Amino acid sequence: MRAVTVIPGRAHSLTVRDDVPEPSGDEGQALVRILETGVCGTDVDIEAAQFGDAPPGSPYLILGHENLGVVEKPPAGGALQRGDLVVATVRRPCPERCRACVEGQQDMCLSGHYLERGIKGLHGFMSDLYAESPHYLVRVPPSMRPIAVLVEPLSFIEKGIEQALRIQQRLVYEPGHALVLGAGPIGLLAGLVLTLRGVRVTLASRGASDRPGGRLAEDAGMRYVSTDATPVDRIPALAGPIDVLFESTGAASMVLPAIGALGLNGVCILGSVTAGAKKTEVDVAAFNQSMVLGNRVVIGTVNAAIRHFEAAARDLATAQVRFPGWLERMITRRLPVKDARQAFERGPADIKSVLRFD
Ligand code: BGC
Repeated sequence: MRAVTVIPGRAHSLTVRDDVPEPSGDEGQALVRILETGVCGTDVDIEAAQFGDAPPGSPYLILGHENLGVVEKPPAGGALQRGDLVVATVRRPCPERCRACVEGQQDMCLSGHYLERGIKGLHGFMSDLYAESPHYLVRVPPSMRPIAVLVEPLSFIEKGIEQALRIQQRLVYEPGHALVLGAGPIGLLAGLVLTLRGVRVTLASRGASDRPGGRLAEDAGMRYVSTDATPVDRIPALAGPIDVLFESTGAASMVLPAIGALGLNGVCILGSVTAGAKKTEVDVAAFNQSMVLGNRVVIGTVNAAIRHFEAAARDLATAQVRFPGWLERMITRRLPVKDARQAFERGPADIKSVLRFD
């Protein structure tokens, strides 16, 4: 079968192979035919040898964790049917079976030895077929076929927002205003979900508002602010105090300004996996004082449990009705799998690139 592979640790080793053995699937597993996979910053970082591990004994890693497929062979006796559209979760339990993994919360694995499909020790979904236990599959309705590849990237945003809201139960909290940093797929989806929750959203990014991300933000009712003209620390004065902040720029240099922009009692969700090594000087006393005197909270969010995938699917279905065509516009390129290399090169007009396996 066809598969997009890399040799972890070797930069720019991406290869589209057509000689990868098809998975046969163990008893109890479903065989799923991939329709589409998304390309995200993590895939680009793995391809640049920043991280990523092949399964033991395999010379290569099949990339891909943002996925949409169709069940080709369901396991006997289960609820899955041939033809069902499914999205697979990414993380699998650690070998130690820590308490979190046993509870199905491998997104919160305590040992740190979790496995991730397409990232860490397990093959991913950029291949014609994969086999998986139905336990890790989320069904989506056929009406979501054009945009369901966005379920995975939305899942960890759902987790971040769910956890932020849980933490904020410490006070009387009605988040009125959110600031999202970054107009890539994560920032736009975070802004969308907060908008669906009734929060007023300011989305800030480099570049003018007539760029595709800026236009999408405004078309879903968000206020777009270009950080070229208004640096992050001036946004609260312009748009109002920030109750919840979602950082998704992927730039390490944005982390401290993001925390610094938080309003009193506010919560900052850090959502970027920043690769590389960036050093900066920090006034720890001032930082600490602002955190303590302002009751501020900073959390990180990575990966997601199955309930967050389900929440993502529900929110995408709502967004299809509320903002028809908006999610489709987020997918700016759909390339056949043979052109995988092109999908890893981001152009200025790109938001989300997707590989097609049909
Ligand atoms: C994936 C997560 C994963 C993380 C770190 C992200 O791009 O969406 O599932 O946990 O990378 O490996």
